[in-house]
Amino acid sequence: MKNNAVIALGSNVGNRYDNLVAAVNKLTDSSNINLVNYSSIYETDPVGYEQQEQFLNMVIEVNTELNAFELLKRCLNIELELGRKREIKWGPRTIDLDILLFNQENIKSETLIVPHPRMFDRAFVLVPLIEMKPELKLPGLARPIAALITELPDKEGVRLWKRKNGEDVFEHIGN
Ligand code: ATP
Ligand code: CA
Ligand code: CA
Repeated sequence: MKNNAVIALGSNVGNRYDNLVAAVNKLTDSSNINLVNYSSIYETDPVGYEQQEQFLNMVIEVNTELNAFELLKRCLNIELELGRKREIKWGPRTIDLDILLFNQENIKSETLIVPHPRMFDRAFVLVPLIEMKPELKLPGLARPIAALITELPDKEGVRLWKRKNGEDVFEHIGN
């Protein structure tokens, strides 16, 4: 699998946990996408449009034979399969799959921008990402990403919901 990608997942409609698990399974059931690593699951206050339920968020790392555009297409198809409807910008959704990183590539097209342009402002993305890859360095970013979190105002809105334990099983803490 020649490419490495990091994907952010979010859900705040229906059974949020089942939606996350279904999306990870659908993505990594395909023979050309392998799951490499994943974060704990966090419960987060909505950002951008606040009159909606809290989200569950996590990030995963995959290796894949797909190129970035093929991976995006797969992500958008899985969103449709899980019943995503786009009604309000940044509004409620069964599942959102954002490609954060693709190798070390910088992609700027009409349909795909990588690194995801808003990832560095979002505690609900950075907190799980830092947990999963604390030493991650990005082109154009002098410090490891862990240093960014101290500057984020909304990190109180991100709370650990299901901890990843050492055995690839989630241990439930809280509700
Ligand atoms: P945000 O992008 O601010 O997180 P959103 O996830 O709610 O908002 P969507 O409605 O899910 O936005 O996506 C709109 C479009 O964004 C998608 O159809 C896709 O073409 C485009 N897009 C651009 N860059 C990316 C990326 N890195 N990952 C996923 N989609 C992207
Ligand atoms: Ca998003
Ligand atoms: Ca999206």
